[in-house]
Amino acid sequence: MTTALALRPYQSYIYGYPHKTAYRPLGPARPALRELWADEPKDALSFYTHLPFCEFRCGFCNLFTRIGAPGDLTTRYLDAVERQAIAVREALGDGEVRFATAAFGGGTPTFLSAAELTRLCDIAERRMGVDLRAVPLSVETSPGTATPERLAVLAERGTTRASIGVQSFVESEARAAVRPQRRDEVETALAAIRESGIPILNIDLIYGIDGQTAATWRGSLDAALAWRPEELYLYPLYVRPLTGLGKRTPVAEREWDAQRLALYAAGRDHLLAAGYEQVSMRMFRRADAPRTPADHACQTDGMVGLGAGARSYTAGLHYSFDYAVETREVRGIVDEYTATTDFTRAEVGRALDVDDRRRRHLLQSLLQADGMDVNDYRARFGAGPHEHFPAELAGFAERGWLDSGTGPELLRLSPEGLAWSDALGPLLFSPGVRAAMAAYRPR
Ligand code: SF4
Repeated sequence: MTTALALRPYQSYIYGYPHKTAYRPLGPARPALRELWADEPKDALSFYTHLPFCEFRCGFCNLFTRIGAPGDLTTRYLDAVERQAIAVREALGDGEVRFATAAFGGGTPTFLSAAELTRLCDIAERRMGVDLRAVPLSVETSPGTATPERLAVLAERGTTRASIGVQSFVESEARAAVRPQRRDEVETALAAIRESGIPILNIDLIYGIDGQTAATWRGSLDAALAWRPEELYLYPLYVRPLTGLGKRTPVAEREWDAQRLALYAAGRDHLLAAGYEQVSMRMFRRADAPRTPADHACQTDGMVGLGAGARSYTAGLHYSFDYAVETREVRGIVDEYTATTDFTRAEVGRALDVDDRRRRHLLQSLLQADGMDVNDYRARFGAGPHEHFPAELAGFAERGWLDSGTGPELLRLSPEGLAWSDALGPLLFSPGVRAAMAAYRPR
């Protein structure tokens, strides 16, 4: 097990494969959206709009977002989203186009005013044809922006899930993570979400913050549980290039790994004992909470994204606009987006060959606590996962990451495997994706 010991548990969070850092400009031959979408199934698409604005920049965050929006920037941004929506809807063609899920993410969508949120919903409905009241609609929010006025708009327009980043209920820990917020502001925002009637509340918490102990972590979990959230996401803290948190020595890195693994296990056990079920390493759902089709949306290929940082997925190409983390670079890309008049082509992206499609399916299924249906994989790809990825799966089994108690038709992680999801996932990246990510220069 020396290799297992040499491996570190927190390599990268796989929220999409391939990662955006493997995307590249598509060049002069950048494909027209109309051609890209011509032969795609369009009867159960996912819809996403990205709003790249936040009140401040959290120290752990490497999302594509900027602080504030001077002047009329949000208006110009929504103008561009509307132009893009018109172009994209036209590119999807005249046949049946139906959206099965919708989400507004960021950044912080509720950075927009109530009137701007109304306009955003109008664009989704009137320009794209998304029936927001008929599909699961998830919206991200923050303690400083989850006001009753904004939440009322979102609830009225059909929001089914409000996800709020709290990270820690302990003010000193929030400060240590460079996310200044007061406890009373957090509690007020949670009350406002509950009063809005939006049926699913998700609370994000982070473990591994400087100064956090088992007791303070438990305190944050209990403060969250007091709201009986339908969902909880527990995130390990990462220090990423160009974000606000500092570097550690190698010894401190090891201690930090051990701290995060211990806090993860304590958090997981506490939530399981409180009546939650584990959906993935990060996600926990109250056992009696409603399940929505969005829970399985990650398996569908068709994703239509609007906004400067949104990704769109067809079966063969994942695409977006340029990507950055550093303040000036983000501002430049957002400004360029708001000035764009031609949204008819994919600009930056990565083509997926059959090997990457298999890897994507395996990653998205295996990292769920329910595991992967092997027969479903076989039906899609013509052979079983053990035939396509014998070395990787043998390595996972050797490390004790696979549940040895399942039958041959189910491939599922053990509790240890789930705990090591952020190390296991990157081991399934293809050599091509790995090389592209390694060559990417953070900016
Ligand atoms: S964590 Fe959320 S609120 Fe903080 S900077 Fe990132 S997107 Fe904005």
